[in-house]
Amino acid sequence: MKKNNCIIAGGGICGLFSAILLTDYFENVYIIEKESECGGLLKSIKLPNGAIFDQGTHVPNTTLIPEIDNILFGKEEERHLYWNDLGKLRSGNYFNGRWNLINQMLDVRNLPDDIYQKGIIELLSLTKLSQAENIVSFLCETLGPTFTQHAIAPIAQKLYGNEVELSKLVTNSSVSYFGLSRVMALDSIVSKKLKELPAFDEKLAYHNEKDFEQRLRKDKVPQRKNYYPKNNQGVGFWVAHLLKQAKDKGVKFFTNDYIDKINHENKKVTSIELGNCKEKIRCDYLFWTAPPVLALEAAGIKVLQTDVTFRSACIFHYQIDRQLLNTESHYVWNWDSKYKGFRITLYSNMQKDIISNTAKLTVETLCKPDEVDCITLEEMFNELVSIGLVDKSSLILSQKKQIIHHTFPIPTFEFVDAVASHYEQLSGAFKNIHIAGRFAGKNWFHEDVFKGVYFDLKEKFGSTS
Ligand SMILES: Cc1cc2nc3c(=O)[nH]c(=O)nc-3n(C[C@H](O)[C@H](O)[C@H](O)COP(=O)(O)OP(=O)(O)OC[C@H]3O[C@@H](n4cnc5c(N)ncnc54)[C@H](O)[C@@H]3O)c2cc1C
Repeated sequence: MKKNNCIIAGGGICGLFSAILLTDYFENVYIIEKESECGGLLKSIKLPNGAIFDQGTHVPNTTLIPEIDNILFGKEEERHLYWNDLGKLRSGNYFNGRWNLINQMLDVRNLPDDIYQKGIIELLSLTKLSQAENIVSFLCETLGPTFTQHAIAPIAQKLYGNEVELSKLVTNSSVSYFGLSRVMALDSIVSKKLKELPAFDEKLAYHNEKDFEQRLRKDKVPQRKNYYPKNNQGVGFWVAHLLKQAKDKGVKFFTNDYIDKINHENKKVTSIELGNCKEKIRCDYLFWTAPPVLALEAAGIKVLQTDVTFRSACIFHYQIDRQLLNTESHYVWNWDSKYKGFRITLYSNMQKDIISNTAKLTVETLCKPDEVDCITLEEMFNELVSIGLVDKSSLILSQKKQIIHHTFPIPTFEFVDAVASHYEQLSGAFKNIHIAGRFAGKNWFHEDVFKGVYFDLKEKFGSTS
């Protein structure tokens, strides 16, 4: 039998997806979203001339769990109507004045000769897997001090800020986001051979798709599908698709609102009070996808540890009057520390269903919240020309700079401890609360967020089918 009220804090993709599942277990499901629209980090914006852009690179992929994928992308036989199947994701990167369009791995052969020669000897002499917990030690024990200092450290500072002491960053949740501990360093034959040894497999990349594919087949890695919305729509289509399902299943929404007060008794949340519309709603289960510290404050619980810092993102969108100079990659990374942009989405290469003489691209940069005015649309466009992505005589048809706070965390040891502490404090405070999504600190990528919720709810409430 269904229980009564489930309240979800946060209408990002985690909140929306969870709401659809939670209607199987609860009579009434409410989403409380502080912004005017749901979607969280995954929104698209439409400029006055109709051009649609996403807030950064977002390529949804299947999870290989049919029940989840049917919710995310619709029935398999109908997906071709709404989704471009991108096949293998084509990425690439720019580093020290050169492009590598094979993969996103940094090519240390682009370093000056003397640095490369010193670095490659160190890299080859390191034959053990590193267990180091901070990224500087991990990288020095994996790639060697020279490549760490000249190749990776400048990128890490570009991403996390010059003021951050890199030795204070945690290995598993920092470099791993960006895949920076694996490099292109030798040639395809030598790399392939060396990769048969675990320590070298961890740090060297394959040099061509054939070798990489062969490896995936050997390891029996199941292939996920990568999708991008059709019909000139952005990733906001995905949010709209989830929102519609949630509404069809009767989920009720309070946007432009937040949970101001959590009332509780005997370690159970009993009701919540909304800050703006002042409604009080009885609560049998509280599903929290916003920062846990806000729930602790709303419940009147003293927060034990507060040091949680996120980077702000400046996102630059451009539509130009001609094709891009790169007509292959879906998105590319700019690992060159001379430039501020770090990732660039090339929409035209993802939307092959659209025939157009114009092109769109989005560049992401990360900075401190008080640095968001440091780079202008014009400067960023010059970067795109300078790295050879757009022709310098291109005319800009539309452009926009967007600022989003609280994006990537700076994964210091203090950050990881604080996130874990908030999670423990909140989950220990109430028997009828569940904490999920990126703010829970357990998962970051969409796929992991969805699978986490799916398996947790199955375990907690059982299967409905
Ligand atoms: C720049 C960037 C690029 C990324 N690229 C990728 C990628 O390519 N692939 C990938 O898999 N993942 C990517 N991610 C991670 C991805 O964005 C997350 O997996 C996803 O956003 C998690 O969704 P969520 O619902 O947990 O969080 P969010 O999207 O942050 O949603 C949380 C929601 O809670 C709301 N909220 C906050 N506080 C309150 C409150 N007090 N009351 C009510 N509502 C509140 C927010 O407004 C928001 O709508 C990227 C992240 C960033 C920052």
